[in-house]
Amino acid sequence: MHALQEVLRRAQKNGVALGHFNISDFVQLKAVFTAAQKLEVPVLVGASEGEREFFGVRQIAALVRSLREQFDYPIFLNADHTHSLQGAIEAARAGFDTIVFDRSALPFEENVRQTREAVDALKAINPAILVEGEIGDIGTGSEIHEEEPHVANQLTSPVEAKQFVEATGIDVLAPAVGNMHGMLQSMVQGDTKKRLDITRIAEIKSAAQVPLTLHGGSGTDDEDLRKAIAAGINIIHINTELRVAWRHGLEEGLAKQPHQVVPYKILPFAVNAVEQVVSSRLQLFNTQPRASEARSETLLQR
Ligand SMILES: [Zn+2]
Repeated sequence: MHALQEVLRRAQKNGVALGHFNISDFVQLKAVFTAAQKLEVPVLVGASEGEREFFGVRQIAALVRSLREQFDYPIFLNADHTHSLQGAIEAARAGFDTIVFDRSALPFEENVRQTREAVDALKAINPAILVEGEIGDIGTGSEIHEEEPHVANQLTSPVEAKQFVEATGIDVLAPAVGNMHGMLQSMVQGDTKKRLDITRIAEIKSAAQVPLTLHGGSGTDDEDLRKAIAAGINIIHINTELRVAWRHGLEEGLAKQPHQVVPYKILPFAVNAVEQVVSSRLQLFNTQPRASEARSETLLQR
């Protein structure tokens, strides 16, 4: 019905990208779903190992499934940055639509071997599941970093990308193209922006020929995000910006009602704050390119 593979195919064809938003509670899920529903665009919800541990693997799967079924809505669930095969299998069995199997910290050959093994194991559980693999270094922690995190300055090369996709059989590739997890304080204030290597994205796309995910999208220059989509990025992850909004919203709800103890009167402030960020990102990701840009995007697909 709303197979994720088909949604990605259509996104590529239309020159738009699927927004991926991390959640660890129902406030964030409600915000993401409401924003997507208002704009009538498909959406991908993600939960990392830490987020899953807090929410519950089967519990988050049940909630997302309930939204998909009740509203007949294309909302999908991703097991973000899964570092063990056991964790990936648990998510696949719980009904996740896609798994990011991340062994990018390992040497290339070992990353290939373990990712290949994960692809086989996960497709045996659910042949329709999508497996995403990762190469290169984009740092860890969707948080506010005091200083520029130590990233090995290891951008993904097109040759490596092609080799990795062919050797592992992954459905989706997450490259390192100038993106980084988390935000610097200056990015939270809007004083600085992350910049992307657009040429490299186009080269990786034409070499790898699979959907591409941009991780660590928070705090990235809007124009770079638009160009990245035109160059072949199909999924964009936003986490830290949502966390910042969640905290501000919660603080506002508490400050405005100093004696309030009813959760459903305090938490809507957090829902609204997160929803605004999700809505702004979804509008950017789902804006169809102008005719001249659409042409170069079509060329890249060849
Ligand atoms: Zn990520």
